Amino acid sequence: MSPFSSLTFGQRLLELPPVFYRHIQPQPLSEPYLVAGNARLCETLGIPSSALAQPAALALLSGKQFVPGLPALAALYAGHQFGVYVPQLGDGRALSLGDTVDGEGRRWEWQLKGAGLTPFSRMGDGRAVLRSTIREYLCSEAMHALGIPTTRALAMTGSADPVYRERPETAAVLTRLAESFIRFGSFEVFYHRGQHDEIRLLADFVIRHHFPHCAQAEQPYAALFAEIVARTAQLLAHWQAVGFCHGVMNTDNMSILGLTLDYGPFGFMDGFNAAHVCNHSDHAGRYAYNQQPQVGLWNLHCLASAFLPLVSEEGLLEMLSSYREQYSQYWLILMRNKLGLVVEQEGDEALIEALLLALHAHHTDYTLFFRRLADFDSTTDNRALRDLFVDRSLFDDWAASYAVRLQRETRPAAARKLAMLAVNPKYILRNYLAEQAIQAAQQGDFSQIASLHDCLSHPFDEQPQYQAYAAEPPAWAQEISVSCSS
Ligand code: AMP
Ligand code: MG
Repeated sequence: MSPFSSLTFGQRLLELPPVFYRHIQPQPLSEPYLVAGNARLCETLGIPSSALAQPAALALLSGKQFVPGLPALAALYAGHQFGVYVPQLGDGRALSLGDTVDGEGRRWEWQLKGAGLTPFSRMGDGRAVLRSTIREYLCSEAMHALGIPTTRALAMTGSADPVYRERPETAAVLTRLAESFIRFGSFEVFYHRGQHDEIRLLADFVIRHHFPHCAQAEQPYAALFAEIVARTAQLLAHWQAVGFCHGVMNTDNMSILGLTLDYGPFGFMDGFNAAHVCNHSDHAGRYAYNQQPQVGLWNLHCLASAFLPLVSEEGLLEMLSSYREQYSQYWLILMRNKLGLVVEQEGDEALIEALLLALHAHHTDYTLFFRRLADFDSTTDNRALRDLFVDRSLFDDWAASYAVRLQRETRPAAARKLAMLAVNPKYILRNYLAEQAIQAAQQGDFSQIASLHDCLSHPFDEQPQYQAYAAEPPAWAQEISVSCSS
């Protein structure tokens, strides 16, 4: 019997042979409780949100009891971590419970993160701490509301069980959902082991379930690779346009579906810094903000190697060479939208680059700037925008070109403003907001998680009750450091 009476669970991964996964036994948390439940996602899935607190559901969401009759599976994968190939990674603290179909026929795979040791745990403890679980929960839902492809978060459970990181913390389990959690590294592992039949089986599985139209193509595997290139280029354009840094763009954290996956030391930029590194442990800045699009391509090269048994090298190289152009085109669309430009003009890219240079020079708050830009009016002094720059003349110079550029637009100013407010978020998950919610939760108060989640579910709307969440970070936020130790 399913713990959710209206849902039937399957385990699609079982279509793949056993070399792809390991069976996991429950390793329950002590006296688990629900920290947060995602009512919106419950609605999508077709379950009442009250169902999450039922004992059978709580047992499932905390890893105490898996779906009756179905094996819980940890998947095998490898990956390039900080440029170095690591032959075996795998789900070290995640496991797949099974999958369900929602009212629109979409299938969702359910994973627990932090539910205990797996054969892939290596030196780890298989656990996740409340702090990192809250960050993943809030950020995945914030990204979804921003229209950025991502894995989703359904629920968080917590326990007093200690988990040791830099200091003792407490354990939590995240229930996350996605169409699939297959990674670039899921292919790489078989290539490097010389198991080419398994690469084909996995590609067939991905085509069958996620890209069925590729099966009709003349070369289905080439069509699949082209899809992955396109989705990766789009994902990176989204991240850059919203000012998001992933922090650990290793190939084991790259989704084959182009989803934002494995939230660790991520960060949204406050003051714009093109070279921003959000991960405290990334000393060389390999995954700095301005490196991300290039790293996306580097990672696709790793995946391309794993596709060599399926697609000709020339074919793969040709698809890889289209990445930059696809990325740039998509990025330009997003940035034009942010600037409220609908008429395409030659100099737009230069105008955007000039703006980014000015924002970088002043470390101007990226989100606030674009939100305020909706009110730009060349007949006023645009004080609210100017005030974001220490050297006003830098802004004035750019504003003069922007004003000229706007004259080429055909849309009335009021319509432009509305369109800009619909793409430039007022609310993002700033590090300090997550930190405040974490500190309260560590004292047993989960209300800030709920209100932040509620606010971030409507990032483009004015929400007077949440005005404080739109504020620039306070001085203490400089001290927050996020690293891989989550
Ligand atoms: P990440 O950098 O979080 O994507 O993790 C890289 C690899 O380390 C993956 O194989 C994870 O499953 C594994 N891992 C991370 N943290 C833990 C942990 N606490 N216990 C076991 N494995 C972990
Ligand atoms: Mg990972």
